[in-house]
Amino acid sequence: MAISAFLTDPSICIGCKACEVACKEWNQLPDDGFEWSGQSYDNTRALGASTWRHVLFLEQPQPLGAQITGTPEPFRWQFLSDVCKHCANAGCLEACPTGAILRTEFGSVFVQPDVCNGCGYCIVSCPFGVIDRNEQEGLAFKCTFCYDRQVAGLIPACAKACPTQSIQFGEISELRERAGARVQLLQERGYADARVYDPRETSVGGIHALFVILGRPEDYNFPPAPEIPTVHLKTAWTYALASAAVLLLTVFGAFFL
Ligand code: SF4
Ligand code: SF4
Repeated sequence: MAISAFLTDPSICIGCKACEVACKEWNQLPDDGFEWSGQSYDNTRALGASTWRHVLFLEQPQPLGAQITGTPEPFRWQFLSDVCKHCANAGCLEACPTGAILRTEFGSVFVQPDVCNGCGYCIVSCPFGVIDRNEQEGLAFKCTFCYDRQVAGLIPACAKACPTQSIQFGEISELRERAGARVQLLQERGYADARVYDPRETSVGGIHALFVILGRPEDYNFPPAPEIPTVHLKTAWTYALASAAVLLLTVFGAFFL
């Protein structure tokens, strides 16, 4: 089975939110209210239990390539459709004590609500702040990578609905090549800070939702070097064993020395 991925390219996103709507329609998710957040044209604010695609509106006081803004100040306005990263090493999956979160044959990370007990360990273990508990049922939810559609040979609803192909879906190695080529093209066109966001060098080991970004990952609320919490286990166990050894030696010394 081919390992699939998303490639999201904000440089061609028009902020229409068709992906958000398609995701909600297909997965029968409730709306998030229709009030402006005060962050540009954002009304869904962040990914959550009922928001599996979130279109971020990013306004920055710097030029966008060779763009003419019509204002004396430099200004760039970007839109990025964020989603669960379907991590190669997923903190949520490692933390789940009931086995509710599993890896699918497509390489994605899937939550089974009927096995979830609502403990929330996955929520604190996600380095991207993606997975969330739904208030009504008290269970964890996030993007399913449209597993049901993929099984039926269809592409995810968000990628299908995107009118500019800002969200592409396909085989991961092919998308990595496409992302690299897109970055090269953007740089040739004057977008010197174009880069691929795919943290393969950290304990996350890469993601199945690649992004072409301009500038720093932090500006898009992406951690520059995400780590899964279990990488700290080795150090914690080393300290625990060292403390136990010191305690034993102290007790031994008190009795026999
Ligand atoms: S892949 Fe499916 S579930 Fe995930 S964000 Fe897109 S539409 Fe929603
Ligand atoms: S982004 Fe978070 S919720 Fe999604 S697979 Fe990675 S750890 Fe799990």
